[in-house]
Amino acid sequence: MNYDVIIIGAGAAGLFCAGQAGKRGRRVLLLDHSAKPAEKVRISGGGRCNFTNLYCGPDNFISANPHFAKSALSRYSPHDFIALVEQYGISWHEKHQTGMQLGQLFCDESSQQIIDLLLTECKIGGVEVKLSTTVNCVSHDGRYSVETSAGTFTAAALVIATGGLSIPKMGATNFGYKIAAQFGVTVTPRRAGLVPLTFTGAQDEGLKALAGTAAPARVSCEGASFDEAILLTHRGMSGPAILQISSYLEPGEAMQIALMDGAQIEAVLLDAKTRRPKSAAATVLAEHIPKRLAEYFTAHVTETRLADMTDEALRDIASTVGDWALRPAGSEGYRKAEVTLGGVDTHALNSKTMMANDVTGLYFIGEVVDVTGHLGGHNFQWAWASAYACAQSL
Ligand SMILES: Cc1cc2nc3c(=O)[nH]c(=O)nc-3n(C[C@H](O)[C@H](O)[C@H](O)COP(=O)(O)OP(=O)(O)OC[C@H]3O[C@@H](n4cnc5c(N)ncnc54)[C@H](O)[C@@H]3O)c2cc1C
Repeated sequence: MNYDVIIIGAGAAGLFCAGQAGKRGRRVLLLDHSAKPAEKVRISGGGRCNFTNLYCGPDNFISANPHFAKSALSRYSPHDFIALVEQYGISWHEKHQTGMQLGQLFCDESSQQIIDLLLTECKIGGVEVKLSTTVNCVSHDGRYSVETSAGTFTAAALVIATGGLSIPKMGATNFGYKIAAQFGVTVTPRRAGLVPLTFTGAQDEGLKALAGTAAPARVSCEGASFDEAILLTHRGMSGPAILQISSYLEPGEAMQIALMDGAQIEAVLLDAKTRRPKSAAATVLAEHIPKRLAEYFTAHVTETRLADMTDEALRDIASTVGDWALRPAGSEGYRKAEVTLGGVDTHALNSKTMMANDVTGLYFIGEVVDVTGHLGGHNFQWAWASAYACAQSL
């Protein structure tokens, strides 16, 4: 019942940390209340796990302390994890999007291969894994004592790897934040990130009619801009560019969507008025953006021919296509979010070891910490890097 390290949470960060610490000769117990480990790894990347990003760096993370992630990220790089993936004979590919180098790496076959890798690493490290185990309480009296449904266990070090709040039906809880509070470690405010956005009223009605439409776009708000696809859905807006901006958009703030460069589409429409005066504005627009969006942006137009429209009216259409301002009412929340923004305050942790500055032997790793990655493999890279940094100091 006595260990060097107890890790709570057998997700990406907990499993990786356990394997690494075990391989360093530590006697490790890994606990999780779920019946299966790493459920989020399993569903990630559409079942193929976007396990890292070639271009992952500190700028891909949101945190109250933007410097915090630098140390861990530099000591365990995407190439380190790729080397491990290759050592296990897992074939992978980079996602390709026309004209864009996204650096997102996926398994060719299945995310289960990453779970098997993590479990094998634990096996090599002699880690004891106890699933379906409820943690009732934690106390500290020289050693950490963890009371569970499977008995009481003690260790010199306790690692909290219980993740964030997204997808509660997959086992997400606020356990990590509660432990932080119990030991006087501050926690920053949390909200759903990488999440589809919702709308209300007339805006909602108008957008719902476009459900199923996707388009490449530049989506921006104060302080951030992403060039990826948007997707209109029956609930609102999703797609990579919308998920990315959701992590930056403050509640009540507007975002701007550029489906094309405004000046470029203005030139196209004015030119078409001269060369093809009998064409409808929607027809010309639909040669550049999806037809349903072209119809949406010209729904107010009564003239059937460009020749009958004023240049001013065409400029108005162009400016909406180039700078479509939308103010979401909210998001689909933790039920659909990929991550939780905010968490255990990085100012209270040592960036080299992930240990709480004022609580000897208590560590926080992975998503429970206030370090949130962009979409595209960055969140797993943070899980690996923070777990590795922690394991080196255990
Ligand atoms: C649908 C979806 C797709 C995603 N796709 C990607 C992707 O392709 N690439 C990427 O980089 N990121 C992706 N993410 C984000 C990524 O999954 C997380 O950032 C990552 O899993 C965080 O790792 P973690 O180990 O910190 O937490 P988790 O993986 O969430 O693990 C936490 C573990 O703690 C356990 N736990 C929680 N509470 C308790 C408790 N009270 N007692 C005991 N155990 C507890 C949970 O059961 C879980 O096993 C995706 C997320 C979602 C939801």
